[in-house]
This record gives sequence, C-alpha cells and structure tokens, in this order.
Amino acid sequence: MTNKLKQAIVTLLHSGSGLNERPYLKKHNESNIPGLFIIGDLAGAPVIKYAMAQGYEVIEHIAGLPGAIGGSDEDLYDVVVIGAGAAGLNAALQAKERGMRYILLEKEQVANTIENFPEGKYVYAEPDTQPPKGKLWLDGATKEDLMVRWHQIVNENHLNVRLMEGVNSIEKKDGLFNVKTQKEMYRAKRVVLATGQRGNPRKLNVKGEDRENVYHRLYSPRKYKNESILVVGGGNSAIEAALTLSEQNKVYLSYRGSEFARIFKDNERKLSEAIAAGRIEPILNSNVFEFGGQEATLKVKVNGKDEGRKIPYSHAFVLVGADVPREFLKSLGIRMENEWEGSILRAIGLTLLGFVGVWIFGSAHGGHPAIGSLDLSMLPSWIGALLWLASLAGLVRFGMKGDRLAWLGLSFFVWYTVYGAKLGKGQEFWPYEDWGYRFLSFFDRPWSFWYTVLYTTLVTLFGLQALKRWGLDRKDKFQIWRYVSLISFQWIFFFLIPEFLFQSAVSNQWIGEKLATDPTFAQQAWRSYGLVYAWPLFFYTFFYNPHDVWVVWGVLLTFVIIPIFVLFQGKRYCSWICGCGGLAETFGDRWRHLSPKGKTSIKWEWMNLAVLIFAAVVTVLILIKDSYALFAEPANLGLNVYRLFADVWLVGILPVTLYPFLGGKIWCRYWCPLAKLMHLQSELFSKLRWSRFKITANDKCIACNECSRNCQVGIDVMSYALKQEVLDNKTSSCIGCGICVSVCPMDVLSFDQHNGMGHSAPVKLVSAEGKVLG
Ligand SMILES: Cc1cc2nc3c(=O)[nH]c(=O)nc-3n(C[C@H](O)[C@H](O)[C@H](O)COP(=O)(O)OP(=O)(O)OC[C@H]3O[C@@H](n4cnc5c(N)ncnc54)[C@H](O)[C@@H]3O)c2cc1C
Ligand code: SF4
Ligand code: SF4
Repeated sequence: MTNKLKQAIVTLLHSGSGLNERPYLKKHNESNIPGLFIIGDLAGAPVIKYAMAQGYEVIEHIAGLPGAIGGSDEDLYDVVVIGAGAAGLNAALQAKERGMRYILLEKEQVANTIENFPEGKYVYAEPDTQPPKGKLWLDGATKEDLMVRWHQIVNENHLNVRLMEGVNSIEKKDGLFNVKTQKEMYRAKRVVLATGQRGNPRKLNVKGEDRENVYHRLYSPRKYKNESILVVGGGNSAIEAALTLSEQNKVYLSYRGSEFARIFKDNERKLSEAIAAGRIEPILNSNVFEFGGQEATLKVKVNGKDEGRKIPYSHAFVLVGADVPREFLKSLGIRMENEWEGSILRAIGLTLLGFVGVWIFGSAHGGHPAIGSLDLSMLPSWIGALLWLASLAGLVRFGMKGDRLAWLGLSFFVWYTVYGAKLGKGQEFWPYEDWGYRFLSFFDRPWSFWYTVLYTTLVTLFGLQALKRWGLDRKDKFQIWRYVSLISFQWIFFFLIPEFLFQSAVSNQWIGEKLATDPTFAQQAWRSYGLVYAWPLFFYTFFYNPHDVWVVWGVLLTFVIIPIFVLFQGKRYCSWICGCGGLAETFGDRWRHLSPKGKTSIKWEWMNLAVLIFAAVVTVLILIKDSYALFAEPANLGLNVYRLFADVWLVGILPVTLYPFLGGKIWCRYWCPLAKLMHLQSELFSKLRWSRFKITANDKCIACNECSRNCQVGIDVMSYALKQEVLDNKTSSCIGCGICVSVCPMDVLSFDQHNGMGHSAPVKLVSAEGKVLG
C-alpha cells in the first residue's frame, strides 16, 4: 500500500526529468562528492565545442584552488581525468598547460564516440559565433580529418593518456581519491569525470535483441547492399541511418510514435521523398516484439488494437538514443538530479510530529499576546518546542542523506505554516488556531504584513540572482528588462502601494479630498492589489460593496487593458508583471528544469479551466445574491470554498511547497484562472491571425534539448524548433519568458513579432501510394 502510494507520488514528482536525466551538479560542475567534477555530454553539454569549453574551465577552476598543484607525494596526481573525448582531452591538455600532475584514462581509444560516427560524417563546429576554448582544435570537418588533427595534438603534447584502461570504481578516503581500473589504482586530489553517455545505447529489451545481426550503432552504412534492413527509432540518428541505408537497400522504419515529431526539417523532407519513392517503408505506432533469425515480429497499433506484423530483415539497427550510465554513476556514489529516495512513512511521520509539537506549544501559549511574554518555564511548551525541533532536525538530517521525501515534508511544513497562519486572527489552520497569527505578528505589524515582506525579499534576492544568471552573465537585454520589471512590480504594486503609499495618499489627500475622506475608499488599502491583479485572479475587486472607482478600474483592467496586452504580448503578464509568476521566476528559477514534461502533463492543464469556471460562478452568485435571496447561501458557501481551496491551497501552500520538486509554475500552469482567461484570448487572437506574439525557429537546431529542459511550463520547444513550426498560444501555453531563446546555443529561436513564418503546415510524410502518414 505505502509502496504503491510512494510509486504514484514519485512518478508524479519525477515527471520533469524523464528525458534528460543528469547528475546533480553544483557550481563549477562539482558533483555531490566534493573534489569530483563532471563535464561534457554527461553534464549536459550538447555539442563538442561546449564539452571542450567545460574541460578547459573545470581545470582553470581546479588550478586556482589552494594546494591544487604539486606537493611532496610523487605518487599523488593533482587530477585524474576519466574519458578521452572532447571534454576529457581538452581538460588533460589544460592540466598539462597548467603544470599539473595529471593522467587521462580512456576505456577504448582516443575520442571513441567520434571515431564511431558513420564514415565520412561531417562534424559541425557549432555554435560558430563562439571560438573554441583550450588547446584542442575544432572546425567544421569530416570525422576523419578531425581525428587526424586530434591525434596530432595528442602526440605533439605528449599527453599522458592510458588507452584501453576503463575506470571501474572511485573511492574517496581521507580527502583523497583512489581511482581503480582493471590494471592499476591511481591516487588523486581531484577527479574529472568525462565519460559521456554514448557508450550506453538505449535498448528495447526484447527477445532476440542480442542476435549478432541486431546492432545499436551504425558505423559503415555503405557496406550493406541489396538487403532488407529494419531500422528502429524516430529521432535524427535513426532517420539519417535509414536514409543512407535506403540508397542501396530496402528499409523498414519502425517507430512507436504516430508521427516523426523530433527530426530536422531537412530530414523530414528527405524522408518524405524516400517514402514516396518506396525506398523506405515507415511503420508508425509500432513496437518490436521479437527479433527472430530472419524475421522481426512487430506489434502495430491499428484503430486502438495491437496487430502482429512480420518484417523480413537481414540486419536490424536499434537507434533509440542513449541513456545516462546511471548504474555506473550510482556505483561511484554520484547523486542524480531530482532523485527520489527515502521513506514516505518516515517523512509523513516526522512532519506530523512537527505539527503535534507546534500544537502542544501553541496550546500552552494560546492566551499570550506576544513573544516577549512567553513563559518558557511551562513544561508543555518545552515539550512542544523540543518535539518540533526534533522533527525539523530529523527531516534535515534525512534530507542531507539524500531523502528528498524528507525535504518535501520540510517544505510542506514551512509553507503550510506561512499560509496557514496568514489567514487572519481566529481563522488560522490547525495547529495555529487562535494563536498562530498573533505569534507571528511583530512590532505592531500583523503577520500578513510580514508575509508581504518575506515575499518581496524572496523576489528581490532570488530575482537579482536570476537577473545575473539570465541577463547580466549572458548580456541578454530582454532578460535584464524582464527581471527588472518583475522586481519593480513586486516592490511598487504588491508592497509599497498597499502597505504604505495608499495610506500616505489618503492622509495627505493626494487623491483629492473627496476620495480621501470617503471611508468606503480610504479604509480599504487592500483593494489596491486590484490595480494590477485583474479578475478572476483578484475577484474581490467587485465584492464587499466596493467604491465605484474600483469597479470601473476592475472592468477596464480585465476587459480592455489585459486583452489589448494579450493581443500584442500573449501571456507575458505571467512572466513580466504578476507577483505569483514573479515568485516562480525568481525563487523558483533554480528548479525550472524540473517542471513536468510530456503529453500527460499538458493534459493536466485542463484544471485551470475548471478553476476559471468556478471563479466565474462564484462571481455571478455574489453579484446577484443581494437581489435574489435564494442565491445568498450558495454564494457565501462558494466564496468560502474558493477562498480555502484556490486562495490558500492552490495559490499558496501546494505550489510553493512543490517549487524545489516540480519547478515554480504549478499554480500558473495548472490552476490560475487569469492565466486560462488570457490563454483563451491569445488562442483566439492567434487563430484570427491578429496576434503579434510568436516564437519562430531557423534551420540550425542540433536537438540538444536545452530549450525544452528549461521551459518552466513544460513545452517541448525542441520539437517545434526541429520542424521550424511556429510556437504561439494556439499551439502551446507559452508565457513569453524567452528563456528558451536565451538558452539556445545555436541562436535558433526568436520572438518574431513581424516576420514569422506564419502557421505553415509541417511537411507531410506521403507513402508510395500517396497516403498521408502521421
Ligand atoms: C550521431 C552523433 C552525431 C553528432 N554530431 C555532432 C556534430 O556534428 N557536432 C557536434 O558538436 N556534436 C555532435 N555530436 C555530439 C558530440 O558527439 C558530443 O557532444 C561530444 O562527443 C561529447 O564529448 P564528451 O567528451 O563529453 O563525451 P564523449 O565524446 O562521448 O567521450 C567520452 C569518452 O569516455 C570514454 N569512457 C566511457 N566510459 C569510460 C570509463 N569507465 N573509463 C574510461 N573512459 C571511459 C569513452 O570511451 C569516450 O571516449 C554528435 C553525437 C552523435 C551521437
Ligand atoms: S516556450 Fe520559451 S518563452 Fe515560452 S514559456 Fe517556454 S521557455 Fe518561456
Ligand atoms: S532550438 Fe532547442 S534543441 Fe534546438 S539547438 Fe536550440 S536549444 Fe537546442
């Protein structure tokens, strides 16, 4: 039972990391083991140039650490570099340059991954706007030419490299590493792991996959002639292999998807031609069931039912990508990103213990007005406080050991307390009832004020960090302005005006004597949140007998200003203005890559339509209840339920608890009714072709996945880029943050306000019989 519960929770929480799982890395690519650095493909560097840059930079960093170079122990290496690919070679060359005692260990041959590219493959040196870093040469060249240059460099520099010597284990003892290969053990101060992930091709795990005519890579496509060949896969590697093989053979292309969604436009065009010429037969919605001696059995989905189909083949190529070498990394003690380990029962138990402690503590102090008068000599309060502290210490201790469920419990504890006690005196959630709000009110200011201070502090501190990360470090003006905008809106409209300036405006009569002396206006500073928060996010603008000024402004903002903004800027309100989006983009930024991805996660977006409908029904009921007594009770009930679920749980406790686990956009993406309203408007404007908002792509995408990985709202940007399809609010729920544009190493994406490619239909795949496929 608990195992099933844990499985369900973990599946949900892990949904952001499916595609591109990576080791957990700190600054300078240091892993969870201090002194062990991970670079290159394994650390997410998508191309050779970036892998080389990481090799260079990590050594520059290590060389600058105290005591990094030299020492009296002759057998102790300053650094052991593992893997002689682009990253490892450049790291070793730089270590030599810096005069370090180093060794480079390689399982097979120099640049094994590139050596294994198909013969004659042209190797791109993208991004061509950036020069390569370090001593390794890189320019666009055939694989053979590139290899000649690299071998020359290795020889000229007398690089200390041991080939055919793969690393089996790494142990850290007394601050030093023991790196073991099948031949020897090397002692080192630091280790740089650059083993890539190509050595770990993904398998189908079906019967017969280990036959000698079933391969997981294609080295010499031109040696096959007049044969029947089965290629399995739907990515660029599989398509390119199928295309080359189809020049001299009959090729069957089996793919589990219903369309080739993740391939270059050029490949799509060539594939369409090969299919039309009958050289390639695509079998979509199919999975290999078994590889027999001469025939493979496929299960093909037709009208929702599986049908068996036999495919004759003399050679089969399974090209379905590569997996992170998880087992190997785990055996070294390396922690993976977003890893869910730990006990759910322990996490629930410790969290509950914390609440019980707080409850005992609170019961003892229920009648006391402030911290200053706490009587800590009372036994129950001591017991409560100790239980509470023990629970927090336990959650932190297990969390530090890698139990993320414990961190989830701690995060829930913190945000439940913040929001559960914020409701107001006497309305707090258990165990804060009747005392939590008062207990958290300091210096004559209520807890709701300190909550706003906390919120603004988080947006400011983490906003400045994000501004540096995305704006200043990349010299990206768009991101600089975006973060300046978010921080400014938070300070001006969600802090200074409601907490200070409104009162000043009233007391100094800046708004005219009439308004300043009208109690329905002057005594309701909280309504100034409605200056920027539109209906239905802030439907209170229209409730509790508002002054006409607020009604007029609320209608204007919701039904005129926001739609005009949406027409030109799509849903940028969420990523430039809104306080909820602001916290997600700042405090939540470091976890943006964990946002749920995939088709199922997109389907969940129906939930904000449900909240929008709920908010609309409550609004209507509240507005008519005074005229029709019949609606008074349902209106009040609806408002109370909405306040509890939407305003406390859905906007506060749940999403902020989940920031470190599912990224910052859970509220905005799944539950915010205003985001849904803007989406409906933007979708309509896009359909009518009035919208000015869209992202377009050029033809240089290298399928590195960085854009999709960093999209906070889980959009698979890469699949749009590969097909050069327009991304707008008709085709996605984009909020226009521009992070995908900033992060793309190839400058593929741009906000094309004027010269977009329009909604050009993607190239259709047509069979030899003229049937449209996929
Ligand atoms: C089909 C294909 C085409 C590509 N085309 C391009 C292109 O045109 N341009 C481009 O920029 N990028 C291209 N790439 C990406 C490029 O190959 C990688 O970005 C690059 O190779 C990453 O370098 P790396 O050093 O991190 O890893 P790798 O190059 O994979 O090197 C890792 C090395 O570690 C060794 N190793 C593994 N395990 C161990 C162990 N236990 N002990 C010791 N050594 C070990 C391996 O044998 C290997 O030599 C392509 C990739 C593929 C698969
Ligand atoms: S698609 Fe790009 S611009 Fe749109 S939300 Fe995702 S990262 Fe931001
Ligand atoms: S568009 Fe996306 S997948 Fe393509 S190169 Fe840019 S970041 Fe990588």
